[in-house]
Amino acid sequence: MKISFKTVIECPDCGHKSEELMDVQEVVSCYRCRSCDSLLVTPAGECCIYCAFGDEKCPSCQVKLSTVPENITKQ
Ligand SMILES: [Zn+2]
Ligand SMILES: [Zn+2]
Repeated sequence: MKISFKTVIECPDCGHKSEELMDVQEVVSCYRCRSCDSLLVTPAGECCIYCAFGDEKCPSCQVKLSTVPENITKQ
């Protein structure tokens, strides 16, 4: 099982992409864009900022998803 703690959040307002380290201690529900200073909040129905705007699901969602077997990342 491989869990990624890094994600790239893309700002829906300006399109700026920023690599972030995901917080595993708490659910992150808001994020301020480093470029345009726009405050992103988690849309209704989404788990957290990372799941909504990031290119990776948050670690807790990755754990849930990894119950599906996958052997792609074996080195
Ligand atoms: Zn922005
Ligand atoms: Zn999440």
